[in-house]
Formats: sequence, C-alpha cells, structure tokens
Amino acid sequence: MKLFNFLLKDVTHKIEYYSRFSPSPMSIKQFLDFGRENACEKTSCMFLRKELAVRLANTMREVTLLPANLLNQPSVKLVQSWYSQSFEELLEYETRSPEDPRTLNDSNVQYFLDRFYTSRISFRMLINQHTLLFGDAACLAQPKHIGSIDPACNVAEVVRDAYETAKMLCEQYYMMAPELNIKENNSKTPQKPIQVVYVPSHLFHMLFELFKNSMRATVELYENSSEGLPPVKALVTLGKEDLSIKISDQGGGVPLRKIDRLFNYMYSTAPTPRLDPTQTTVPLAGFGYGLPISRLYARYFQGDLKLYSVEGVGTDAVIYLKALSSESFERLPVFNKSVWRHYQTGPEADDWSNPSSDPRDASTYKANR
Ligand code: ADP
Ligand code: MG
Repeated sequence: MKLFNFLLKDVTHKIEYYSRFSPSPMSIKQFLDFGRENACEKTSCMFLRKELAVRLANTMREVTLLPANLLNQPSVKLVQSWYSQSFEELLEYETRSPEDPRTLNDSNVQYFLDRFYTSRISFRMLINQHTLLFGDAACLAQPKHIGSIDPACNVAEVVRDAYETAKMLCEQYYMMAPELNIKENNSKTPQKPIQVVYVPSHLFHMLFELFKNSMRATVELYENSSEGLPPVKALVTLGKEDLSIKISDQGGGVPLRKIDRLFNYMYSTAPTPRLDPTQTTVPLAGFGYGLPISRLYARYFQGDLKLYSVEGVGTDAVIYLKALSSESFERLPVFNKSVWRHYQTGPEADDWSNPSSDPRDASTYKANR
C-alpha cells in the first residue's frame, strides 16, 4: 500500500510537472519534412516521449476542473483511468536524467469537450505519424503518403468518395439520395485539379458528415413531392491563402437563431439511434456529433467550418483549409491560468436588451429557446 501511494504521488507529481509545458504545435509542413528527409526513429521517439506526456498532462489537469458530480460519473472515471494508464506507460519511457467541485454550465461542457477532443485528435496524429513511418505496418502504408499525410491530396476525389459513402447510407434509409454536382475553381493554376497537402482521413471525415446532413435535409423536404430531389453541390476553390470547399443543399435551411446550437455536442433533430449490436447498419444521423467534431478537425490545422443557411431555401456549409502546409500548424489546447479562470466564471450577464425581460412586453415575447 505504501509503495502504491508512493507511486501515485509520483505520477501526480509528474502530471503536474508535464502540464507546466505548453504543447508544441507542428505544422503539416514540419510533419512532412520530418517524414521525408531526416526521418529518424530515435528522434521521433524522443519527441513523442515528451510531447505526448505534455499533451496528456495538459488534458488530464483540465479534466480535474470538471464539477464533482460529473467527475464521479463512472464513464468519466473510466476515461480518466485510460489517460492515467497511458501516461504511466509513457513514463516508463522517460529517462531518469533531468528532463474542485465548480459551478457548471453548458458553455463549460462545450468548452471542455472541444478541447478534450482536439487533444485526442492530436494524440492520434502524432502516434499515427510515428507508427506509419516506423511501425511494423509501415510497408502497408500508402507509398506516396508521408505517414497519414497525402502531399498531393486531390480534393475533388475525396469529395466524391465522401459523397458516395454518404449516398450508400442515405439510400439504405430513404431508398433515394440526391445527386452530386462538383465544380472546381483553381485561381492559382486554372484547369489544373486542386491539390492540397493534408490528412485525407480528416478531410473525408468532415465531408462525409456534411454530405449526410445535406442529404437528410434534402430527402426529408422532398420525399413526398412530385419534383425530383435537387442535387447537392460542391464547389472546391483554391485561392492564395485559403482552400475552401462549399457544400450547398436545398434542404430548407435552418433559422439563424438555431445555427450556433447545431455545433453543440449531442444536439440533433434526428431520433437517437439505438445502439443495437445485432444491427449492422450505421445510422445516418442522430448522435449530434457530426458538426462539432468536423469543426474541430477543420480548426486543428488552422482552418474552420461554417454554416450559412437561408431558412426556407437551404444551407451552405464551408470548410476552410490553409492552402499552404507551412501555415497549417496544429491548434492545441494549453492548460494555464486563463483556462482555470474559464471554468470559474459562470455565463456573463447579458449586456444587450432581451425582449423577454422587458416587463412591458412580457406577455408578447416569450423566451425563445
Ligand atoms: P446529427 O446529424 O447526428 O443530427 P450533426 O451535428 O451532424 O448531428 O447536425 C446537427 C443538426 O443540425 C441536425 O440534426 C440538423 O437538425 C441540423 N443540420 C445540420 N446540417 C443541416 C443542413 N444541411 N440542413 C438542415 N439542417 C441541418
Ligand atoms: Mg450529421
């Protein structure tokens, strides 16, 4: 028991130690240069040993800021134990040389999950790069790829792939799916297909989620109409700074008031899919994780994902990526004082007038939530 306590203390101490470092964001260009020119397994190991510990420790400290009632949930405890185990396993590689219950609001949970999932995306990125370059399966990796990065990723091809996969799901559910219409606009070298240095699996993830959403909106609006389904359009454009991909549907859109909440975890207007192990089909919608996680993938390399909707008509979803790999640095959560402050402060009082709180109109304006 004494030994156990000692070890526990040692681990806590280490978490504290590593959380004092800020994670070092890597750019796609750096991942690429490393994988291509001076790929050295030992250097990669040394980097990962510290960097993974730093990223894990930053996340683990942030988890402890969650309120007690959430921290005591078995699922949270389980995830914590996984992180702890990974951290301890990492410590085994470390050389011996010097090297509260709080108030909670929805915005805190949203803030936490965004940061938590971003750090998870970043672990997978670092570990994948290492195992794909140096692991046993390295020979199976795509020959032109550097780890998980495609130095010449044909964007329209990924768009088509993601569309086809979403179409299969959509047809399973509704027995129909809208067509795809792709346009490319390459302002750098017109007529040439648009390519980007990027992680194709990230791009696929985002596009697949957007296509599923657009298809569902389109089919639900036109299912019983005599007109055919309007196609979903994809516009791929390359500028000096941004590579943007716009997915447009005519699925009736979403009112402006609701746009922000579509990015909340678990917000969904589809019935919650039952997790039935005997069922082999994948649900088209219903977990409410599609948009928030896709936006994290876009932001992870300094891009973004935005929705522009016109209620009554349809929705444009735009994925923005950096055109240059030297600018697509990882965007990583850091554990520091201002994070701590974020969890302390509740939502600010509104400093704009609110129709529902005006006593003169109390009966006519309802809090519209
Ligand atoms: P899910 O698809 O599992 O519901 P998402 O995060 O992908 O979760 O989307 C959340 C919600 O946003 C959807 O349930 C839907 O109500 C709305 N939404 C997303 N995209 C569109 C769209 N293109 N047109 C209309 N509504 C949309
Ligand atoms: Mg979805």
